[in-house]
Amino acid sequence: MSAPRRNAYAPTADYLQLIGGDWVAGAGTFEAIDPSVGTPWALLAQGSAADVERAVAAAKAAFRDWRRTTVDRRQAVLLEIADRFEADSERFASLLATENGRPIREAFIADIPTVQAIFRFYAGVIRAFNGEQIPLANPDTLLYTKREPLGVVAAVLSWNSPIITFANKVAPAIAAGNTIVVKPSEYASASILELAAVIGDALPPGVLNIVTGVGPETGAALVSHPDIAKITFTGGPATATAILGSAARTLTPSLMELGGKGPMIVAADADLEVAVQDALMGIYLANGEACIASSRLLLHDDIHDEFVARFSEVARSITVGDATDPASEMGPLVSRQQLDLVRGHLDGARAEGVTVLVGDEQLDLDPSLAGGFYQRPVLLGDPDGGATITRSEVFGPVTVAERFSTDEEAIARANAHRYGLAAGVWTNDLRRAHRMADELDAGIVWVNRWFDLAPGMPMGGRGDSGFGRELSFETLREYSAVKSVNIDLCTDRPPLWGLAGR
Ligand code: NAD
Repeated sequence: MSAPRRNAYAPTADYLQLIGGDWVAGAGTFEAIDPSVGTPWALLAQGSAADVERAVAAAKAAFRDWRRTTVDRRQAVLLEIADRFEADSERFASLLATENGRPIREAFIADIPTVQAIFRFYAGVIRAFNGEQIPLANPDTLLYTKREPLGVVAAVLSWNSPIITFANKVAPAIAAGNTIVVKPSEYASASILELAAVIGDALPPGVLNIVTGVGPETGAALVSHPDIAKITFTGGPATATAILGSAARTLTPSLMELGGKGPMIVAADADLEVAVQDALMGIYLANGEACIASSRLLLHDDIHDEFVARFSEVARSITVGDATDPASEMGPLVSRQQLDLVRGHLDGARAEGVTVLVGDEQLDLDPSLAGGFYQRPVLLGDPDGGATITRSEVFGPVTVAERFSTDEEAIARANAHRYGLAAGVWTNDLRRAHRMADELDAGIVWVNRWFDLAPGMPMGGRGDSGFGRELSFETLREYSAVKSVNIDLCTDRPPLWGLAGR
């Protein structure tokens, strides 16, 4: 064990909110904690209801012009945002590591290139986003549809992949002609504010606004505002229920990207080496704090033991440490609260008799990291899949190995939970691959891969995983409404009223 090579982010000033093009303080402040060491590293603004009011008013005012901008202009702005971020993106790796414990090496592989790609994707597809001309029974009718923006979008974000989640919401919303108020997570606001500082003035004032603060105050004030035309949310099901309760009162449509419990099915004929590597990445990337994590491994009887042996050998050797150190393969969890939550799940699993196959050993960390929120990678054994942890989202580096003997059993078990976000199957049998892809209840099914989320691929879930799709052409529909324009081409219309007097 050697002392970590810290590459922590040092902000130049306390963070402010972006409202109507101005950087403004909140009603108070709160501390951001560096999860690798457990100490404060930045000060954020606690936004008040009045700040939310001003941000929504600024977005509403900006909407009057932004909705009328040409597609050329919106395309150019999206491309400029991507270019600006690319030119200034390197520091976001240490920023994310400092903010939420994302291992710095992963930020370079995943977060940074994905943000650019998302803005460029929408810059392209917005040109193909058009209405239709629809033939009707009456030949004297010209019916066409237009796609119109909705107005002010409220975006409430989770902490785990903050800048990707920001891009997933902001890029399609503004591409479709809306303006937006973003409320980042209280655990990941600095990266959103830094990103807004880089790209913000590529947009007219008020098109993009950021208010920060805790969910039940700042977030609740935003989603309940009567001038919000659409809510777009990424987070947990309990918060989604609270937000939808508020949306019901104002009749505000919503997009919900929620949690998951991703079953990965490995058939007897799978390429084991690839499947093991994908399973490791599927659960331990982003410290397991991913909605699409492969948090259930359904392993065929014939390969179960070998798979578990190979997976365990690597899982035990993973270097856990300071997220800001490029040598760390896994960082800390985002907060003390998240660590306690994960440990609570593990205690519950032990109490139910679930076997801990990997992860019971003490972590050997440098004393400078004693205040951090570290959890060793865990593999549990629950052969018949009956334990509570096998059905619950843990949102940490914990996966469960189950056994199955027939495809039908694997599908029935994989579908037997309330989530429906991501699922996967590893097989070299074409028929099995297609049949399982058909029968798995999930918004995403990967075959012989995991974690591939390229812009263009609709991303979203069903059941407790939410509704609506991000990352795709489909998403533009979420941020627009259809207007039907019905034109009478007939020059001779027989009268219907006042016939008696004729
Ligand atoms: P969370 O639900 O605790 O918080 C999400 C956001 O909601 C935060 O910004 C928070 O401040 C805000 N919030 C909390 N209470 C609110 C209220 N009453 N009104 C308005 N806003 C409120 O979730 P989290 O802990 O930040 O993120 C973890 C969850 O997000 C996990 O369940 C994970 O699976 C899910 N997630 C889903 C996806 C996806 O795309 N499907 C992606 C990432 C994370």
